[in-house]
Amino acid sequence: MNTTTRTRSTEEWQRADAAHFLHPFTDFQSLARKGSRIITRADGIYLHDSERHKILDAMSGLWCVNVGYGRHELVDAATRQLQELPFYNAFFQTATPPAIELAELLAEVTPPQFKHVFFSGSGSEGNDTVVRMVRRYWDLLGQPQRDVIISRKNAYHGSTMAGASLGGMGGMHAQGGLPIPGIVHMEQPYWHALGRSMSRDEFGRVAAGWLEAKILEVGADKVAAFIGEPVQGAGGVIVPPETYWPEIQRICDKYGVLLVSDEVICGFGRTGQWFGCERFGTRPDLMTFAKGVTSGYIPLGGVMVGDRVANVLIERGGEFNHGYTYSGHPVACAVALANIRLIQRERLVERVRDDTGPYLAERFEALKDHPLVGEVQTCGLMGAVLLVKDKDSGEPFPEALELGMVCRGHCFGNGLVMRAVGDRMIIAPPLVMTRAQLDEMMALIRRALDLTLADAQRNGWL
Ligand SMILES: *Cc1c(COP(=O)(O)O)cnc(C)c1O
Repeated sequence: MNTTTRTRSTEEWQRADAAHFLHPFTDFQSLARKGSRIITRADGIYLHDSERHKILDAMSGLWCVNVGYGRHELVDAATRQLQELPFYNAFFQTATPPAIELAELLAEVTPPQFKHVFFSGSGSEGNDTVVRMVRRYWDLLGQPQRDVIISRKNAYHGSTMAGASLGGMGGMHAQGGLPIPGIVHMEQPYWHALGRSMSRDEFGRVAAGWLEAKILEVGADKVAAFIGEPVQGAGGVIVPPETYWPEIQRICDKYGVLLVSDEVICGFGRTGQWFGCERFGTRPDLMTFAKGVTSGYIPLGGVMVGDRVANVLIERGGEFNHGYTYSGHPVACAVALANIRLIQRERLVERVRDDTGPYLAERFEALKDHPLVGEVQTCGLMGAVLLVKDKDSGEPFPEALELGMVCRGHCFGNGLVMRAVGDRMIIAPPLVMTRAQLDEMMALIRRALDLTLADAQRNGWL
């Protein structure tokens, strides 16, 4: 702990926070009234706050601290690089060893069509790069009119102008005149909300068919690309039916539409494969990454560029007028190298695939006996529990009750970070979790569900 942490009280931190710090995705006024929770340190899978609470972080920070907190390998890599060369850019026909080595390692751990990478500072920036690069690609092929990108409702692709436009969050589009031109949306593959009259597999094919309908509506000669998260993360850990992605791939192939996999959450082991596209059997042309690439220790993002696009960008020549000061930041790249090597050394992807992923699935399945639980889904080490009013009909609670927020409050109150997306309670715990730690997490989840149920009964919400 540093000096200031010891000398300021929680109230003092909260006062200064409310006076000066505008938080992302936050109602400033209501937070100022309540006061922030001040997180002061972390170790392994636990956070510690200024009130000396210990909290199990089942969200890996914000889907990113996959190797857990306090890993000295990552700290050492950053320290060494900061001393040797804290920064140099890649604009001036220059490069730094960590950026080159990371590009090489990424080509090794990603599917075989990826041999090139374009670095950014975040996932949002990566998706901005995707929009620029997709349009540049079709331009170079003499089809500049082919500039429409199809995305999905309730997708999350970041918060920059292009990222928020690609995303399908109505609340984000409502602020700032989004989406920008040339981005259209189709329905998401959310079986519980949209397809319960069909089997999951049947619904998967129907939902993928919405892509073909949208391509024909826009005009096949105008559609540049389709973008999607293998599993929708911020939208509520919505795991699509197994039939969905193969059919999306087939439709993209049929119309020559580029397939972009936003792997910002699913990448680097989250699903039990290195990348979500491998879990669901697609061959994307572009792949956005961020978050887990450095386990969040330092910001880094980028786009893996498949041969189909890279060959055109490289061979047709001409300058791509796009890039960021921090494209290939040497310290971020050094941390990413240490992080990926740690994932390899500890066989974390295999562990999620063969051991902890299936175990989490089993433990989540067992939650179905709870009176509030309407659906559970997991994929690797992420999962969702849907709270419903009526288990049999699937009838939801009235939105105004904000039952998810009630449950989230009980989680926090009992030392667990679990997020609420509407009434979907979601987790994405660190990939280093052991079975014993998963048991500990499950006990906390069940406790929060029981307390939420007691609230619902007491208030006559059921
Ligand atoms: C978090 C996220 C982003 C945005 O990444 P930032 O680093 O916050 O800009 C993009 N896509 C997906 C799928 C994400 O989960």
